[in-house]
Amino acid sequence: MSGSSDKSRKTPDFKVFIRTPQGKYLAQDGNGLFFTEDRSAAIVLNYDADQVPMQLEALCKAHNIKLAADPVPLDEIYESCDRCKELYMPFMTYYDGSRFLCPDCRSIASRIQGCGRPGRI
Ligand SMILES: [Zn+2]
Repeated sequence: MSGSSDKSRKTPDFKVFIRTPQGKYLAQDGNGLFFTEDRSAAIVLNYDADQVPMQLEALCKAHNIKLAADPVPLDEIYESCDRCKELYMPFMTYYDGSRFLCPDCRSIASRIQGCGRPGRI
């Protein structure tokens, strides 16, 4: 394939972890920033929106701390709907007590479960 599309000037933003050369991730709690090997505790930044390259460069210049931005795998950002298996942003999914549902499947499920509403239209 020959793809020379210079129409898209801006690449879409993506999520990153901040990682040390030793493989520890930048995390944050009530006491402030710290490094951890537990990636599930790591903070997630938006590469462009949070100006990650600039911040890493500033840290390197000011403190000689060399950190790297590690892209977050897509399946760690998104929740998959347990019914249709599509990926959605976590805020879009709904947990009904036993499974995660996307907005579409949630409305289908509630229609199925919520039968027996009395009255006619
Ligand atoms: Zn679904």
